[in-house]
This record gives sequence, structure tokens and C-alpha cells, in this order.
Amino acid sequence: MSVGRDLYISWLSRFLIGSSRLSTTAALLPSAHPGEKGEMAARSVSYITSSELLSIKRRPNVAIVDVRDDERSYDAHIAGSLHCASDTFYEKIPKLIQDVKGKDTLVFHCALSQVRGPSCARKLLNYLVETKEDAGIKNIFVLERGFNGWEASGRPVCHCTDNPCKNDKA
Ligand SMILES: [Zn+2]
Repeated sequence: MSVGRDLYISWLSRFLIGSSRLSTTAALLPSAHPGEKGEMAARSVSYITSSELLSIKRRPNVAIVDVRDDERSYDAHIAGSLHCASDTFYEKIPKLIQDVKGKDTLVFHCALSQVRGPSCARKLLNYLVETKEDAGIKNIFVLERGFNGWEASGRPVCHCTDNPCKNDKA
């Protein structure tokens, strides 16, 4: 067997393992509903698309966490989301956990979900791991392309000033 072929097989198996991991995350989404016993606390952060979020956002176990800073006050927001600004995120984690009580699936986003969204999602995950607090949070997601991508795809947005947003119609 040539070296080239060995390399190809090792690349192929890595590729296959990588893609099966992705489909596990996608397969996990529809089963995320409240009251499920025996599931482990969240251990990693995964991405979801705006169409996946649209299909789950009205479930009672899902909370959308907007970590943009001042933009939230002059820009629109995803209907039903709550605001927890990234600049003071770490100190507000205990309050956030209270605010999302009863939700087992959290979806983080900022404007583009490139820096603030994923970093706050990881801060929460690390906090939960370090404190071993059983907050009942099983899934931590980051919304791909953030609020800007959501709005650009014509998904429902809201302009109210409530936090959390109580608009559950959109
Ligand atoms: Zn609103």
C-alpha cells in the first residue's frame, strides 16, 4: 500500500467522523423538549442556522440570548429574546440563569455571532462546568450569522423595549 493511499484513508476517516458529529448536533435539535430526564448538562457549544432556530424558537424550553451591547436599544431584536450585554456578561451569569429557569436550550447571538456571541456562550458553559451548578441547561447554541443574518433573511424581528421581549407572536 502506498503512502499516498494511507494518507487518503486517514483523511477520509477524519472527514467522515467530522461530518457524523455535525449530523448528531442537527439530529439533537428536534428532540430538545422540556422534562426529559437523564440527559447530561451541556458540554459544548454548537452552531444552529436561522431556519433551525425559526423552527424551535417558540418552544417553551428555548431561550434566545442577545449579547449585543448598545445596538439592541436602537436596532430591532429577535422576537422573544432576552438581552444580556456582552460587556458585563460574566457578572450577570447568575441573573441570566434565573431568567432562563425552566429552559434547557439556550441560543446565543450578537450582531454577526463571530466574537461576542460564541465567547459569551463559552463563558456560560465554563461557568456551569466550574461551579457544577445544575441549571438544567442541556444545549448551548450560537446562531450562525447572528442578528444581522437573521434580519437579512427576512426572519421576524421586534422593536419593543421590554427585556425579556414578551412578543411571542412573531
Ligand atoms: Zn420585543
